[in-house]
Amino acid sequence: MAKLYFYYSAMNAGKSTTLLQSCYNYQERGMQTLLFSPFIDHRFNRPVVYSRIGLMQDAVGYNDSFDFFRFVKNKSEEIDHLKCILIDEAHFLKKEQVKQLTWITTELNIPVLCYGLRSDFKGEAFEGSQYLLIWAEELIEIKTICHCGRKATMNLRIDQNGQSVEEGAQIQIGGNESYISTCMLHFRESNKTFNQLESGQDCAETSI
Ligand SMILES: [Zn+2]
Repeated sequence: MAKLYFYYSAMNAGKSTTLLQSCYNYQERGMQTLLFSPFIDHRFNRPVVYSRIGLMQDAVGYNDSFDFFRFVKNKSEEIDHLKCILIDEAHFLKKEQVKQLTWITTELNIPVLCYGLRSDFKGEAFEGSQYLLIWAEELIEIKTICHCGRKATMNLRIDQNGQSVEEGAQIQIGGNESYISTCMLHFRESNKTFNQLESGQDCAETSI
C-alpha cells in the first residue's frame, strides 16, 4: 500500500533539491511523476520547483481550493506508470487537501511525497504541516544547522537590518525580509515575542 510521506525541515535545508532528486530517480527508472508547487511565487511567471543550487522543473500550480484527489485520479487514467506525486512547499496545503492526499495513497495506491516547513516565523504551525505531521505515515527530517553549529529547527524572519520581524502575515513572498534557520536557543534569543510566556514572564525571570 502506498504511503503519505512528509519531509520537513527549517528554511534552506535543501527540500526542493531533495524533491527534484527523488523525481529524477523515479523518471530514470521509467516511472512517471507529477510535481506540484503553490503558484504564489511569481518570479518565473509559471509554477516551478526551484532549488537554490540552480535546479528547476515545471510543476502543476495549486491554490487553496485545488482538488488534488480529483486531479490525480483523472491523470492516473491518462498517464501510464504514474508512480509518484511530489508536492513542494507543502506547508501551504489546507487541511482538506492533506486529507485528499491520504485518499490518493489509499484509493489510487500512489505514494505522495510532501516537502515543507514545520513552523512559521512566529514559531507557530502551518496548517498543511500540522495535518501532515498527524496524518503522514512516514515523517522524515531534512536537517540543517544554525550558525552555532546545532541543528536548526526554527525559522527567523529578519528585516534588512538583520532584526527579527515578529508581526505580519504568515505568507510573505518577495518582501525585503529574509529568513534564517536557527536552533531553539537562538530563535528564542532573537524573537522576543516567542521568548515570553503567556503569564508575561520571560526566560530570564523563570530561570533564576
Ligand atoms: Zn544556534
